Amino acid sequence: MGIQIDLDRCIGCGDCVPSCPLALIEIIDEKAHINEGCTFCGACQEACEYDAILIEAVTETAAISDSHHGIWVFAEQRDSKLKSVGYELLAKGRQLADTLDTELCAICFGHNIKEVEQLIAYGADKVYLIDNPALANNQEELYTRGLVKLIQQYRPEIVVAGATSLGRSFIPRVAAILRTGLTADCTGLEVDDETRLLLQTRPTFGGNIMATIICQTKRPQMSTVRPRVFKKGIPDNQRKGQIIKEGRI
Ligand code: SF4
Ligand code: SF4
Repeated sequence: MGIQIDLDRCIGCGDCVPSCPLALIEIIDEKAHINEGCTFCGACQEACEYDAILIEAVTETAAISDSHHGIWVFAEQRDSKLKSVGYELLAKGRQLADTLDTELCAICFGHNIKEVEQLIAYGADKVYLIDNPALANNQEELYTRGLVKLIQQYRPEIVVAGATSLGRSFIPRVAAILRTGLTADCTGLEVDDETRLLLQTRPTFGGNIMATIICQTKRPQMSTVRPRVFKKGIPDNQRKGQIIKEGRI
């Protein structure tokens, strides 16, 4: 993140000076000058009628997004049967992926999982599957390792999982290892198609306020979503997609 004065636009009027809560702005040689310590609050930018103050958050976000592609949905299974929350998230993920013109992938860990191809029927373009007897019983350590490895390899821009007991347990570990942001227990997800930011809505202050949270400078953007927040789509068994079997964890 950065802040700059466009010297061609700045006329040295000084209107921005009192707007800074940290008193960082001086007029030197008839141009605004910003001293160290800026928190990028944007108050001076709003005060300037000449669009002479540039805060570079969006540029940085776009640069980060350029190196990450695709929306991932973690499709959880129990006893080798895919859980409904994965299909619900695919319905929302399909909508978000179409808005961003990117691919939607399902991530599936387990052993002898039934009906993996249904993830494609419910909207996934690709399924990354790790089939291993050690993964049959939702081993959180192995799931963490497996998902971190795949994210580092394929660099998705968004990763969404169910806010189930498994998701609440291992997804925060994944986010911590990757040093990225996670919004837990979301009740709404949308995307801004210009900035490619995920707009993650969840209740806060004891449920009295709905907050929309963004993760501006880290990737992937990660969320967990409560089961039954989104509705399952209608499966299309004619949809084509790829099932990619990944090797060892
Ligand atoms: S308000 Fe804008 S034009 Fe005026 S001094 Fe500040 S940056 Fe320059
Ligand atoms: S962005 Fe905020 S902290 Fe930074 S110079 Fe402007 S008003 Fe001050």
